[in-house]
Amino acid sequence: MFDGNDYLMNTYNRYPVILEKGKGAKIWDISGKEYLDFASGIAVNTLGHSHPKIVDAIKTQSEKLIHCSNLYWNEPQIELAKIISEKSIGGKVFFVNSGTEANETAIKIARKFGKKQNTSKFKILSAIDSFHGRTLGSLSATGQPKYQESFKPLVEGFEYFEFNNIEDISKKISEEVCAVILEPIQGESGIIPAEKDFLESVRELCNKYNALLIFDEVQCGIGRTGELFAYQAYMVEPDVITLAKGLGGGIPIGAVVANKKADVLEPGDHGSTFGGNPFACSVAVTVLNEISNEFFLKGVKAAGEYLKSNLEILIQKFSQVLKEVRGLGLMIGVEFKENFSAKDFSKKCLENGLLLVPAGNNTLRFLPPLNVRKNELESALEIFESCLKEITKEVS
Ligand SMILES: *Cc1c(COP(=O)(O)O)cnc(C)c1O
Repeated sequence: MFDGNDYLMNTYNRYPVILEKGKGAKIWDISGKEYLDFASGIAVNTLGHSHPKIVDAIKTQSEKLIHCSNLYWNEPQIELAKIISEKSIGGKVFFVNSGTEANETAIKIARKFGKKQNTSKFKILSAIDSFHGRTLGSLSATGQPKYQESFKPLVEGFEYFEFNNIEDISKKISEEVCAVILEPIQGESGIIPAEKDFLESVRELCNKYNALLIFDEVQCGIGRTGELFAYQAYMVEPDVITLAKGLGGGIPIGAVVANKKADVLEPGDHGSTFGGNPFACSVAVTVLNEISNEFFLKGVKAAGEYLKSNLEILIQKFSQVLKEVRGLGLMIGVEFKENFSAKDFSKKCLENGLLLVPAGNNTLRFLPPLNVRKNELESALEIFESCLKEITKEVS
């Protein structure tokens, strides 16, 4: 049926559907079947599909200028950098095309920051079960052996600490550490939010050992938590933030913001041919202008609370299947009990018209567009519940 397998490398276990078009939180396959898209391309389609303002920005900018080179200035790039800097930690921005590239940039910033102090300050600490991307630097930071094994030797100098364990990271940090990198809310491994006191302690440790604190907000940034940046939900400020997924509302773009201390890169140190092109930047400006206001972000929080509280009711009702609900804003995970596969359950949801994303520890992620409507949340909950009813009927 799908001759895609004859031509595409077999790197994804794809669901057996071919998606064709989308509008808002809805998406259709080539047979015309409609789905509620609570995957959003894994937290990418911030404003849903085919948002008129995004479509308009794409049209307008593509008729003006799609690409020049970073050998020259372009206005959308400067405008986007200004918005990101002013709305976050201040400082300077570098643009890339993906999450892994954003983290590669942060790793190079960390290495250079350390090297400027002494040659043995090059260690980077990252969390067990973290996810930072697939290229070799980011993969070395990713604390999951299953992704690393086939590609060793990795980049040297990475060590792993237990997430949310203050004692463990206290033992592992030293004068040789140039940076700590972590996701304020671990995404890929199953929506595991950091604890506030843990982040506060990591901030103090980084200050004490003069190491940079890097927050990978590739998944949890850009309004996902109901704050524009996830660190704002914790009031713990990092030195460097990496962004991608939701930033372009579907157009590939990533960014790194570095405060004054971390602003170490000079001409020749780093570059990107496509990074910061006027096309992607003008779309990202449109996304940020749409979401970075109190009214919109309040809506994200309200929608998140509605979804989470209703999922909590389902946890009670289907306690033989479901274990726990976790998350902030519209980044919510539902963990399944050991004897039920979240992955298999996502197939059932798909058949019934709801897209969800499986994550690490037998969890399903709800990542709807940030402008999702109340009636769409209700419908998604109805489909989720009816699928739960089906599988509990099957076992009893
Ligand atoms: C998805 C993700 C990445 C990698 O992003 P790509 O654009 O796929 O390279 C890095 N970090 C986190 C937290 C992610 O969720």
